[in-house]
Amino acid sequence: MQFENFTELKSIEPFILDELKKHKTEFPRNRKFGKELTINLKWADLGDSRASVVGYFRYKDFMMNCRVNKNALYPLIKKMPVGSKKLNSFFFNKPFRYIYDQEVLNNHEEAMIWVFAHELWHFLCKTKQAKGNFETKANKFGFEMLRKYKEINNKVYSLL
Ligand SMILES: [Zn+2]
Repeated sequence: MQFENFTELKSIEPFILDELKKHKTEFPRNRKFGKELTINLKWADLGDSRASVVGYFRYKDFMMNCRVNKNALYPLIKKMPVGSKKLNSFFFNKPFRYIYDQEVLNNHEEAMIWVFAHELWHFLCKTKQAKGNFETKANKFGFEMLRKYKEINNKVYSLL
């Protein structure tokens, strides 16, 4: 695995590396893969748009790019669909309705954890380590990991 952090957000590295240890990130034997996961943490300049993060996981070269909007103002509420509910009738032309979850992002670190987890979900599904390669499931994984990160961080703070 190759991990590079091009931001000043160094305090999140132990948490991220710990999470990565739980999964397979290198596939040296399989010629079809013959790949290792590359992760880049970067800043994004999205102006004062309301977008907090952008990211992607590219299967072709196992590249994961996680970027946080340098201009984001905190705290901000991250609200994303994490599932859907089938309906008997149409709702805004769709036979289903999204179920949303939300969490407060307090700083760039928390935003980066969220986008990292979201993209990690896509990687895990593409490498058959998880099932359900949907945006909703990636969002759900993002919220779960963010809450875990917040909990660990709060414990550390309470010791000080
Ligand atoms: Zn996604």
